[in-house]
Amino acid sequence: MLSRENVVREALSALEAQRAANMMEEKRRRAEAAQKSPAVARLLERREQVFFSGMRGAFASPAKAKEVSQNMQQQIAQINAQLRAELMGCGLPETYLQPVYQCPLCRDTGYVGEPVHEQCVCLKRAVMNRLYQSEGLQGLERENFAAFREEIFPDTPIEGRKTSQRTFIRKCREFCEEYADSFAADAGQGVLLCGRSGLGKTFLMNCIAQRVLERGFSVVVISAYKLIETMRRYQFGDEGLEQVQDLLSCDLLCIDDLGSEPMLRGVTVSALYHIINERRNAGKAVVVTTNCDSDLLYEKYDDRIGARLTDPSRMKVIPFVGVDVRRFAAQKG
Ligand SMILES: [Zn+2]
Repeated sequence: MLSRENVVREALSALEAQRAANMMEEKRRRAEAAQKSPAVARLLERREQVFFSGMRGAFASPAKAKEVSQNMQQQIAQINAQLRAELMGCGLPETYLQPVYQCPLCRDTGYVGEPVHEQCVCLKRAVMNRLYQSEGLQGLERENFAAFREEIFPDTPIEGRKTSQRTFIRKCREFCEEYADSFAADAGQGVLLCGRSGLGKTFLMNCIAQRVLERGFSVVVISAYKLIETMRRYQFGDEGLEQVQDLLSCDLLCIDDLGSEPMLRGVTVSALYHIINERRNAGKAVVVTTNCDSDLLYEKYDDRIGARLTDPSRMKVIPFVGVDVRRFAAQKG
């Protein structure tokens, strides 16, 4: 994994570039508005004059600085009111000449809070997504809704049913896309994709992760194997605290292939319970793929885990059915 310090540094320099881009955009907007309306141009010029003469005045007579600055602020407020009216008059939003930024919380500085300086959520998300994209998400640029091909699923009825596997997977895909599009950080609604391998579960989970990520949320995709490894290292060697915090705090946690991890005594079940329960209490969602059906989840882990992963008020359980598409594709040649 990349070092966290480097990733934070990268994210901060991306914010610096963003601030430079914001300033360019502000400049462009001023030019555009001034070109549309000579009155706007005059008001902008006037505002600048008031500002600089106010500054000079405050410097020249420090005793009167307070009075000068109040006077200046009053004049600027008046000019701003006229500016807003002018902007609307020429068909631009009244906020058009206000400072531009992507994140209203930190104004693209990455930090919030006075006097305690804290990382803004936007910085935390950027760091987390960079960290986990470096390994967990490699599949995502290939495995997304746009790349989803239903024609690799047989168009013949699923054994014992009327619907074909292709129709079935199309419905699953529709559900997953809608889920990802309406995902909200603290809604706590998750998905359990279960069934044998080769039915498209991991692909659809990656599609969800990719879409939620694109929408600006923090997403961690991790195999159950790796998750247990991380928790084990933390539990026995007090390293990996930050990774464990990421698993608990990211907006969406996607656990792949639950059931394939080693069943370590005193680790696997309690670690899994800890993650799932903490996230549930915090209203945070998990998406899980597993080869186990719900009965097996109860049996293999314990009732508390089984109940949380299949709780209909919080989890949509999708049992995948059909034949292994990798074999189907091979037969088709
Ligand atoms: Zn921010």
